[in-house]
Amino acid sequence: MNYKVLSRKYRPQNFNEIIGQPHIVDTLINSISSNRLAHGYLFSGLRGVGKTTTARVLAKTLNCLDLQGGQPCGKCQNCMDIAASRSLDVIELDGASNRGIDEIREIKETVKYPPISGKYKIYIIDEVHMLTKEAFNALLKTLEEPPNNVVFILATTDSHKIPETILSRTLRFDFKKITNKNITRHISKILEKENINFEELALNMIAKKSDGSVRDALSILDRIISYSRDLVSYDIVKESLGIIEDEIYINLLDLIIQSDQNSLILKVKEITDSGYSIENFVGGFNTFLSNGLLFISGYSKEEFLSESVENWFNSKKNIINSIDFMRIIEEIQKFEITSRNLLQPDIALEALFIKLSLMENSIQISDLLLKLDNQTFEDKSKINQNKHVKQINDSTLKAEDLNSKDKIKTVEPKNIELDEIKTVESKNIELDEIKEQFNNYWKSILNLIDEKDKRISSSLHDQKVSINNNLIEIDLGQTDNIYEQKMLNENIDIIENSIYEILKHHLKVKIKVIIKNEEQEKNHPLLDEIKSKFTNSNNS
Ligand SMILES: [Zn+2]
Repeated sequence: MNYKVLSRKYRPQNFNEIIGQPHIVDTLINSISSNRLAHGYLFSGLRGVGKTTTARVLAKTLNCLDLQGGQPCGKCQNCMDIAASRSLDVIELDGASNRGIDEIREIKETVKYPPISGKYKIYIIDEVHMLTKEAFNALLKTLEEPPNNVVFILATTDSHKIPETILSRTLRFDFKKITNKNITRHISKILEKENINFEELALNMIAKKSDGSVRDALSILDRIISYSRDLVSYDIVKESLGIIEDEIYINLLDLIIQSDQNSLILKVKEITDSGYSIENFVGGFNTFLSNGLLFISGYSKEEFLSESVENWFNSKKNIINSIDFMRIIEEIQKFEITSRNLLQPDIALEALFIKLSLMENSIQISDLLLKLDNQTFEDKSKINQNKHVKQINDSTLKAEDLNSKDKIKTVEPKNIELDEIKTVESKNIELDEIKEQFNNYWKSILNLIDEKDKRISSSLHDQKVSINNNLIEIDLGQTDNIYEQKMLNENIDIIENSIYEILKHHLKVKIKVIIKNEEQEKNHPLLDEIKSKFTNSNNS
């Protein structure tokens, strides 16, 4: 059977058939109908989004002998020659294989001769960023003084590699990723024409996998049709692409939240044992989490997550937030980079999931910190009240003074000076002195803790410690120091008791965790990156 690959068989032949680039198509049609042609065009965008196809349609439109409302007729000799790549007036070059200056020199020579059968001579240079510097220079000279009937269409996936001098002499069009919806619609039409049955979900899955590239979607489809001729089903696509269903990822995330390491390991083993590649599995998990992050940050659109998955995310938003998602994604990205060089990536994969399950989630951490803050606040208020009583007992104090001080206190209850505390607490060591000599006291405290629990003392050793009012802050510095932080928080009583034994002051201890605030969370580079990917694929 003579099988023609779908991308060739269904290549768009006019502007109406071009998928997902209406902004470009409209501009091109308008400029042609109003006779405002440029001599150089630059089509930039990811692979498989229609750059070369649009270049050929543009070439046809320029040379068609019988334009139909601004569109090529598709029937005249010129249209047919261009469609069959045999037109002498349309010269296609691949920058990747013709990197040399010779090819460009040849162009320079041939531009002098007028077109043979059409109005224009059109040069389409694909992957133009691959040209050598010398070739670019030669091309530039031609672009600077092109004959009237010559049009250059340069296509590239990497426009940033093209010299500014070339960019400034071309009219630039940025091609967008094709949305999943557009890809799904496109391939469903093709399957209908091919008389092949399909399941909607299967096409969705292909669209997702092709990541905005029609060409990729069609080559996946080619592959699937080659062994399942009359049906494109969800199961076949899933198996053929090695796609792991979102339900499995939800299950894993649930186990991570529950910190259920045993079940996690079993689940991970089950997945790797059933033949999924670790790369595919981890990459899929990352995509799933990125979509989840977008969803809970309010950026998601229906095509990214199914309703049941969205419901699940909604039900968990009080348990995990976007910071947790970003932390998990960061861990997974680290794994993706390092696992390539590992001899036993499956063991590392299990370790990764155990690590994820041990991460404290930031909602709990912020709750904890909030409680700590409230406690210190309560302590301060008590001191304040004591002082208040003392002031009332002082017969020399005037009533209006009391009132004004009272007012200040109600406005700023946290504003207590250290010497105020001194007046109400008579202890062996003054807090001022503690503050001044804190490093020495801290050594004694550490020694005492060391006698009680060496794990705690060694974790506290060399950490930044500061005293502020009646709060001692221990700054662990690094955010990924989750085990130490967890252990210290669990043993905070031992630390506080030791402090009391040495200082005879009840001082609260706060293990400092870097919690990103709302603003930082919104501006997190990872979120930005994911957002920009998202906008690229959705703006069309
Ligand atoms: Zn024509």
